[in-house]
Amino acid sequence: MTIGGKQFIFLGPQGSGKGTQAKIFAQKLGVPHISTGDIFRDNIGRQTELGQKIDGILKSGQLVPDDITNQLIKARLSQSDAATGFILDGYPRNLAQADFLFNLKPEAIAVCIDLTDEETVKRISGRRMSLATGAIYHLDFNPPPANLPPDDLIQRPDDTEVAVRQRLNIYHLETEPLLEFYRSKQKLITVDGSPPIEAVTDELIKVLLP
Ligand code: AMP
Repeated sequence: MTIGGKQFIFLGPQGSGKGTQAKIFAQKLGVPHISTGDIFRDNIGRQTELGQKIDGILKSGQLVPDDITNQLIKARLSQSDAATGFILDGYPRNLAQADFLFNLKPEAIAVCIDLTDEETVKRISGRRMSLATGAIYHLDFNPPPANLPPDDLIQRPDDTEVAVRQRLNIYHLETEPLLEFYRSKQKLITVDGSPPIEAVTDELIKVLLP
């Protein structure tokens, strides 16, 4: 596949490094990083009309209705900074959204950062946060300093193994069919997300920045 444009959709389960890589490549390509999750959380924080409507949905871990999400993306992609390209992160999340986006931006290429369920669970359920500083650690990959008071370190409720497996179920059910959607259009690139972040970035550079 030859890559001409700068329109990319980053896909992958939680913990795959998708968000981190999406930010890195938006900067490298000079295009906006557009995360629907970030936009929704920002609206909730500012208590906009949209924010008030979707607050409960985000808390419950369900998906925001497609019509709201699609219109939001349509408006965002029509802004001038997205004229030369964009990196979408967290959208599309189901086939209805993928269809909508395909009508809007047929050139966009999907980049899947792949990770097994077991690796996802290991990465997320080992995550701990310092209450005092907000710093994120990982029990295996980035251990917290030994001198932290024991009750300073917490596991966020959505990082428990049960919660991670629940979100993985939604991913397999709703989002994984997108891989076939883009594969059948010859618009899918898959990279292995299991190596360290920098190694995955290097792999993506080879593929996305020829
Ligand atoms: P994220 O930060 O991508 O994990 O998104 C956080 C939450 O925002 C999700 O659990 C959904 O409730 C909502 N959300 C983000 N992106 C979408 C989307 N494309 N469609 C529907 N809901 C979304």
